[in-house]
Amino acid sequence: MKKPFMKKTLAGLLAVIFALSFSFPVFAAGTLAKGSRGQEVKKLQQRLTELGFSPGKADGVFGGATALALQFFQGRNGLSMTGKADADTLALLYGDDAKGAEPTDDEVKGYVTENGLPLLVNLDHPLPEGYVYYDLVVMNQYCDKSVVKIKHQNTFAEREAVDALMVMLKAAKAAGIGSWQISAAGRTVADQQSLMNSRVNTYVKNGLSKKKAQTAASKLVAQPGCSEHHLGTCFDITVPGKTFAGTKQHKWLLANCWDYGFILRYTKEKTEITGFSAEAWHFRYVGVEHALKMKEMDFCLEEYIAWMEAQ
Ligand SMILES: [Zn+2]
Repeated sequence: MKKPFMKKTLAGLLAVIFALSFSFPVFAAGTLAKGSRGQEVKKLQQRLTELGFSPGKADGVFGGATALALQFFQGRNGLSMTGKADADTLALLYGDDAKGAEPTDDEVKGYVTENGLPLLVNLDHPLPEGYVYYDLVVMNQYCDKSVVKIKHQNTFAEREAVDALMVMLKAAKAAGIGSWQISAAGRTVADQQSLMNSRVNTYVKNGLSKKKAQTAASKLVAQPGCSEHHLGTCFDITVPGKTFAGTKQHKWLLANCWDYGFILRYTKEKTEITGFSAEAWHFRYVGVEHALKMKEMDFCLEEYIAWMEAQ
């Protein structure tokens, strides 16, 4: 009795393996991600290159550069920037409506409203569903390293904001204030979620209940979707190895950032309105005209937008 049973089991197992070997390409096409290999990956890399993104060599190996290029593609096409090629991403990627890396002449920037105001993202105004990025760059590759150190690899931001940042930091350097670092710029919603999770975990390890840990974390970390960093137009500007507040770099920015189109976004005085504690290092690019007006009126962004809309 035993032997035929064994045979049956073996045959069944072989059948399963056989079926799997056929279904694998279909399965892989739905879930291409870091570590994937093969023709489907190569095809993906070729298509990303064709659209103006930079996935590295089209070698069929899904590495970091491919993941980042795919994230940029997703950001340009209103998909969540997971860096994983799921069915939705693949459908758009190979479809006729796929948006390339280069913005078109008539394209509207997502980080500016129809009225030409900076788009508000805060706890009451999450990043709109299907938000479309305009012209992202990888700061490590794009920025002059003799002017600024980019703390983390693959930090991305909108080109216009990075260009303004570089003009500002070069002016600071010319004035004798150097040693700049960018600790954070653009951030995906998934990145924000892991930031939140790791903060909650730290509190739980320190003895707080899950609920209390979540409340405590939400005071320091914005809810995923509600961080202004999602826009790619803000920078955490710091000095390597130093607490930023009170440094000469901090003082220089407070006096000069407005002239370059930047605002200090979260101050102690406006905490009630912004919903965020003061952050000495967090600057947002809004353009020179808005920045100077906000400085003159002593408005935070929430106040400024309300005031402008009432005009
Ligand atoms: Zn920040």
